[in-house]
Amino acid sequence: LSERLSGALERLTRQGALTEADVATALREVRVALLEADVSLPVARDFAKAVQEKATGQAVTKSITPGQQVVKIVHDELVRVLGGDGEGIGRLKVDTPPAPVLMVGLQGSGKTTTTAKLAKRLSEKEGKRVLMASLDTRRPAAMEQLAVLGRQVGVDTLPIVAGQDAVAIAKRAKQQAALGGYDVYMLDTAGRLHVDDELMAEVAAVRDATGPHETLLVVDGLTGQDAVNVAEQFDGRVGISGVILTRMDGDGRGGAALSMRAVTGKPIKFVGLGEKMDAIEEFDAQRVAGRILGMGDIVALVEKAQETIEAEQAERMMKRFQKGQFNMNDLRMQLEQMLKMGGMQGLMGMMPGMGKMARQVEEAGFDDSVIRRQIALINSMTRKERANPDLLQASRKKRIAAGAGQDVSDLNRLLKMHRQMADMMKKMGKMGKKGLMRGGLG
Ligand code: GDP
Ligand code: MG
Repeated sequence: LSERLSGALERLTRQGALTEADVATALREVRVALLEADVSLPVARDFAKAVQEKATGQAVTKSITPGQQVVKIVHDELVRVLGGDGEGIGRLKVDTPPAPVLMVGLQGSGKTTTTAKLAKRLSEKEGKRVLMASLDTRRPAAMEQLAVLGRQVGVDTLPIVAGQDAVAIAKRAKQQAALGGYDVYMLDTAGRLHVDDELMAEVAAVRDATGPHETLLVVDGLTGQDAVNVAEQFDGRVGISGVILTRMDGDGRGGAALSMRAVTGKPIKFVGLGEKMDAIEEFDAQRVAGRILGMGDIVALVEKAQETIEAEQAERMMKRFQKGQFNMNDLRMQLEQMLKMGGMQGLMGMMPGMGKMARQVEEAGFDDSVIRRQIALINSMTRKERANPDLLQASRKKRIAAGAGQDVSDLNRLLKMHRQMADMMKKMGKMGKKGLMRGGLG
């Protein structure tokens, strides 16, 4: 994200809600930043449009500029698109042995290296017995390369037999995997400099002979738009289950990841971060989003925006507490805060008078699972009930407890805690705002 963008963002004026003009100004610059990061034009355009719709009309957070707020929305949307629902990231479907994993991609994309990296990971992290086989019949050196890497990472490779074609080797690997009691067998296919029919036909034949549980496309993350075209073609002609982006240790800006995700809809499962056998990591949408936006500052800025938004929420909540309002929604927020902060040190711990109670509750054996169960009880209430807990008579209690899979006695305990906290809030309200804010919330 260029300096130009920061400038444009600073100039945006503050209003009650983000106006279309605010958002449009910021997004013009965001679109440029995306293109600079190698995101393809149609993807950048669609992305900007989605952000525009999300951002327009959002309430302006007081202490950050509208421009910063748009950047935060852009960042969050990037993370969302890149990560999808998180399904499949960092994981391979290799539960039913012997599970075939087919590695495909262009020559030089990092298939052989990535095959060995994944095999090492599967055997070391998941205790799987892995067999690797090279189907690269055109280059005998490629077969030897995999054997060398196999010895290096302590993973077996299928013995090399001269004169067999790719399908024959794949079948032999399948048989050997079954006989040898392997959990996973990985097929490292030959690549080409470009996608061609012969390559696709060969890969498709191997696919049909083995029925892979995963077909992973390995692409060079530095090749930007080309990588996306390659992904589209492989997905269209062979069908892929996930993508691995290599050379993410280089100075590419990660835009390929966004385009790839948007165009194929397939999860990016791992990224390669170097030539060493440990240089592979689960795809991290946050990190790549930061990289696409182009500067570390952005991430700091986004964090600051987030903090500010939370502080404003807390302030609004405190105002309500002072008026003696403390309903189940407030309690749920407190509980969620505790989960996030890892204990009772949350908002409550920061408020005068509450620290002691927080400790008492903690000593009474209050851990995450208890908090989660309490949140489940609150979730089981209707909106009306949450806003007005006085409504909770016997039949409602029964329904709520059953809905959360718990006993009425659990619910009663929660209600008691709520009453105690509400009383405390009321008392603190009388102490006045000043006394409260000294607690460190201001
Ligand atoms: P293949 O032709 O697709 O099998 O590609 P190779 O696995 O033989 O890799 C080609 C070159 O890229 C080798 O020199 C690898 O060490 C290198 N390589 C593979 N993955 C990465 C990566 O994530 N980062 C870097 N910097 N180099 C990589
Ligand atoms: Mg290779």
